[in-house]
Amino acid sequence: MEVMQVLHMNKGAGETSYATNSTVQTNIISTAKPVTEEAILDIFNHVLPESVGIADLGCSSGPNTLLVVSEILNVIYAKWQQLGRPCSPEFRVYLNDLIGNDFNNVFGSLPAFYNKLKEEKGSEFGPCFISGAPGSFYGRVFPSKSLHFVHSSSSLHWLSQVPPGLASKDGRGSWNKGKIYISKTSPDCVLEAYSSQFQKDWSVFLKSRAEEIVGGGRMVLSFMGRRSTDPRSKESCYQWELLARALMSMVSEGLIEEKKVDSFNAPYYAPSPEEVKFGIYKEGSFILDRLEMFEIDWDGGDGDGDNYDATPTSSTLSNGARVAKTIRAVVESMLESHFGGDVMDGLFQRYGEMVGNHLAKTRAKYTNLVISLARKV
Ligand code: SAH
Repeated sequence: MEVMQVLHMNKGAGETSYATNSTVQTNIISTAKPVTEEAILDIFNHVLPESVGIADLGCSSGPNTLLVVSEILNVIYAKWQQLGRPCSPEFRVYLNDLIGNDFNNVFGSLPAFYNKLKEEKGSEFGPCFISGAPGSFYGRVFPSKSLHFVHSSSSLHWLSQVPPGLASKDGRGSWNKGKIYISKTSPDCVLEAYSSQFQKDWSVFLKSRAEEIVGGGRMVLSFMGRRSTDPRSKESCYQWELLARALMSMVSEGLIEEKKVDSFNAPYYAPSPEEVKFGIYKEGSFILDRLEMFEIDWDGGDGDGDNYDATPTSSTLSNGARVAKTIRAVVESMLESHFGGDVMDGLFQRYGEMVGNHLAKTRAKYTNLVISLARKV
């Protein structure tokens, strides 16, 4: 299954949309902000182009899309002012995502965004041209040497496809029965299938960006990952484990066919720092300037602060429902095309309860990686 055909965040701005359920990703963007700023400032210590090329990969639609753009423009323009440059650079901003993305929603908010820029920064600023660049980032998306800064948040954990090695040789069985991602009980061949798909995709990604980014240009990428060398560790797969259990509970009630669960696997991978570094060194076009890791609570907090209760309370249960909505906004398109739309409400209801019970026992967190790369000159 090619990811391109089935993955898109839930569209529009309604109750189950990505726009309404993306605060986890908003927090990830703000946690990575200092790394983004540092990388941008470093580019313009060396060059001051008249036209600056910027791309956001996996831009999606909703508040985060233009939040990222505005943060990047702010940093660059402040640098120009600080240097006392007589005129602003021209900004070329490219928003990339898969073709199923709700680009129209983003384009609809551009007039207001341009007005705000003019109000905040005055008429000296820009011009700024924002355009859509649809297509998979696992391949070329932009002309050669057209970009100075590339940003991507919460997107690179999506693989280009489900690893082909998960189906058994006769094509009928699965090595990952009853599961939809790597789990505690996964055999080694499942781990190998996932990690080798990740290395293939990561290498194509780096090679493509190496063509598109000017020497000295920078790239800041944040995505789900793991601290542990063990891909079966809970930090990187437990959200999928619970989703598999919710699916299997529907199987036990005859609402979903078991073989449907066996044949579904998520085109997702949360790599370790070692795997990420290995790919960078092997491809060879980028220098790794920074690699940081941080935790984000499943329900969007930054992992510090209050304690959790030992028993399920109405608040942990409603947290469970909230977490289930954040996951639903991301994975529903994919699950719906495989299991059908009529089981979605029931599935996420169960998932919300299971997550709620889990949150009552432990403070569940995702591990995120943020890396800053420089294109070799
Ligand atoms: N950057 C936004 C959106 C993250 S959601 C934020 O931080 O909130 C992840 C996005 O990555 C989705 O919109 C998904 O469609 C996109 N995506 C996944 N695989 C992709 C690929 N191969 N090429 C381009 N976009 C991809």
